Amino acid sequence: MRSGPLLRAEGVVKKFGGLTALDGATVEVKAGFFTLLAGPNGSGKTTLINVITGLLTADGGRILYEGRDITKLPPHERRRLGIFRTFQTPRLAQRLTVLDNVVVGALERERPALGRWYGRERELEDLAFRALKLVNLDHMWDRPAGELSGGQMKLLELARLIVSGARVMLLDEPAAGLNPALAKELFKHLKNIASSGVALLVVEHRLDIAVDYADYAYFMHEGKVVVEGSPREVFENPLVAQIYLGG
Ligand code: ADP
Repeated sequence: MRSGPLLRAEGVVKKFGGLTALDGATVEVKAGFFTLLAGPNGSGKTTLINVITGLLTADGGRILYEGRDITKLPPHERRRLGIFRTFQTPRLAQRLTVLDNVVVGALERERPALGRWYGRERELEDLAFRALKLVNLDHMWDRPAGELSGGQMKLLELARLIVSGARVMLLDEPAAGLNPALAKELFKHLKNIASSGVALLVVEHRLDIAVDYADYAYFMHEGKVVVEGSPREVFENPLVAQIYLGG
């Protein structure tokens, strides 16, 4: 088994005109791990996610996937390799059931060989059901997706990504707008998703509420990773407190 990271962003530099948004940032994401990307507003977290997915082209550094340099691959080819991200607003079919939304995700993975799935709906549904269980939505399987709460829609989107063949999931502030209790609930599900073998990188600036769920944390400031380690170590690092307090 490969023990190295599934994904490595190495020394990434990104400039917007005269502004250096990323100044040599390096992060690694391992399969089966929930990795946190923290840091104050403007520290470069979203830009780094955008460079990893290929939405933005880096001005320096490399993106490695299973040790292969994918820096020049277009976004759709990175997606085909299993590098997925979520968007602020989940993209769901509101009138289809919760289960069917997940089945659609599984079909997407099989698109090149869709014919293979005819007559095997049961198998697809089982796959979808298992993904719904991971995010604790299985009891809602027959409801139209449009009836879900905002938080549940985010979970549904994650279940769909699981069956779509995501090997790396990049989530930009999935807990935005959720109160601390709901955010912790979401992180618990994210931990389950990572444990199922996905390499999970989650942007969250509220380190305190994520600390018990993530396996590893990076803390960014001014385009660089300035502290990394266990989430607890990072959270308790005096430099982190100083930066958050604007010191
Ligand atoms: P974070 O996600 O940590 O809040 P961002 O990656 O969004 O930080 O932003 C990093 C820096 O880059 C900020 O100073 C931001 O204003 C700037 N920035 C981000 N995107 C753009 C863009 N498209 N054009 C110009 N500046 C940008």
